[in-house]
Amino acid sequence: MKRILVTGGAGFVGSHLCERLLYEGNEVICLDNYFTGSKRNIEHLMDHHYFELVRHDIINPYMIEVDEIYNLACPASPVHYQYNPIKTIKTSVMGAINMLGLAKRVGAKILQASTSEVYGDPSVHPQPESYWGNVNPIGLRSCYDEGKRCAETLFMDYHKQNEVDIKIIRIFNTYGPRMHPQDGRVVSNFIMQALKGDDITIFGEGTQTRSFQFVDDLVEGMIRMMNSRDGFAGPVNIGNPVEFTMLELAQEVIELTNSKSKIIHLPLPQDDPMQRQPNIDLAKKELNGWEPNVHLKEGLGKTIAYFDELIKANKA
Ligand code: NAD
Ligand code: UDP
Repeated sequence: MKRILVTGGAGFVGSHLCERLLYEGNEVICLDNYFTGSKRNIEHLMDHHYFELVRHDIINPYMIEVDEIYNLACPASPVHYQYNPIKTIKTSVMGAINMLGLAKRVGAKILQASTSEVYGDPSVHPQPESYWGNVNPIGLRSCYDEGKRCAETLFMDYHKQNEVDIKIIRIFNTYGPRMHPQDGRVVSNFIMQALKGDDITIFGEGTQTRSFQFVDDLVEGMIRMMNSRDGFAGPVNIGNPVEFTMLELAQEVIELTNSKSKIIHLPLPQDDPMQRQPNIDLAKKELNGWEPNVHLKEGLGKTIAYFDELIKANKA
């Protein structure tokens, strides 16, 4: 049995990861400050003998004896990470320093949840890990993009200088049950709008693209990366290469929910990347043939069912 720390464990992705690690027979310590996460996401795990919940902010050091650390703590939706940009960059940078310091002291293996945002508005398409990106260092998204880029640098330098056993994954847009209903990201927005009969808000023309990955595929990729061969640090892209425009996504959501909502167009936010699609050759090669299995229609169906229940229970 391994003791595993999951920072940001009460968030959308973190809650699925905690659940999977626990059911695989590990002891899981879930650390969160509840900025965007909630106890509701992990309440079904609370009675489990090997599950522990800790309220803590990773901009402050934290000491615990563990074998592995998954570092996920950081708001991921543009609305939330732009709410307090200084706090966002502190979470990425000071959080990385604190968690790497912990990993170094106790000899734990540590995985960083980085992001496709390190590629910015990419001029290379699809994006391989070797692409250095096109990021505005002083724009609205910089607190997140540059924070995550700096965290990658810190991970690599702790690896080279202190031989900390690190793993970096770059996660592409991921969706699924337990996303916050007011999360502000496109999948949760469109589903909530469609279920409530509100207008579907497309920013810009809707020709910008994203590649959407269902959360179960991501969790599988994260665990395979943590268990990948010694010395393989990444970074490795974890995402679904099937690319959709926002207009296509809106139409799919309307169809699956039988909604009468109409599509409206709002201004495109500053520095909004026009296209994004992962090259997953490296993940396939290094992570035992890992690739996403869940098609958008199937994943959206599960996510719609989750939000529908929340609305009916008056919890959305
Ligand atoms: P989320 O907002 O649901 O989860 C983040 C969690 O971190 C929340 O529970 C939040 O309360 C917690 N947190 C935030 N700041 C903290 C702090 N200072 N100390 C302790 N806890 C803190 O987002 P998510 O979608 O689950 O994302 C999880 C991770 O994956 C993030 O690091 C994010 O950058 C990364 N990621 C996610 C996606 C995606 O599409 N979901 C894409 C790329 C990268
Ligand atoms: N978007 C949209 N309507 C919304 C929310 C987002 O059209 O209600 C667009 C947004 O401009 C972006 C894409 O959907 O082009 C994905 O946005 P999201 O915030 O989900 O993720 P990110 O931009 O970080 O990839």
